[in-house]
Amino acid sequence: MNVLLLGPQGAGKGTQAARIAREYEIPHIATGDMFRAAIASDSELGRQVVPYLAEGRLVPDELTVSLIRERLGQDDARDGFVLDGFPRNLTQAEALDEMLAEIGRGLSVVLALQVPDAVARERMLARGRDDDTPEVIDRRLVDYHEQTKPLLEHYRTRGSFVPIHGDRPENEVFAEIQEALERAAVA
Ligand code: ADP
Repeated sequence: MNVLLLGPQGAGKGTQAARIAREYEIPHIATGDMFRAAIASDSELGRQVVPYLAEGRLVPDELTVSLIRERLGQDDARDGFVLDGFPRNLTQAEALDEMLAEIGRGLSVVLALQVPDAVARERMLARGRDDDTPEVIDRRLVDYHEQTKPLLEHYRTRGSFVPIHGDRPENEVFAEIQEALERAAVA
């Protein structure tokens, strides 16, 4: 099961991706978490990306794409994965298409979690991560609308694209996701 989760910051991608990963025993691959781990361990990559995360700007594609390429090549991703936070623009989406084609795999399902900006903003303020200040949140939402939202069109026309209404209790959202995944598994 190769799952891609799309949606704005604060849509609940991380929460739902973690549940999918547990339920289907596939790794949860989240670029934001990987960058934060790199920063915490003070690695070379961490030092390179720290200003981007602090300001809520996208990390350069080169760094992000090579991180994902390496991660998808690891053993635990052989039987599936749930991608959260990647791709975030068209260049990354095209790089992902190429990577998957190279290894002869496709996306089983693309889930598009949808919530209004006001809800996304409120949720981010409530979780209070270092980069969840009003200014940085706005900057990330602008990037989402300009760069990530166009990906919905990229994926709508291919494979199994399922919009999910994310402005509901976590369990309801997950139940709908499970239905979509069961349909994808038998397709
Ligand atoms: P959020 O979705 O709330 O922004 P993430 O944990 O997904 O939280 O991302 C945190 C930060 O990590 C982003 O603001 C950005 O700086 C960086 N980042 C994460 N994913 C990507 C990506 N695919 N491309 C570029 N930068 C990314």
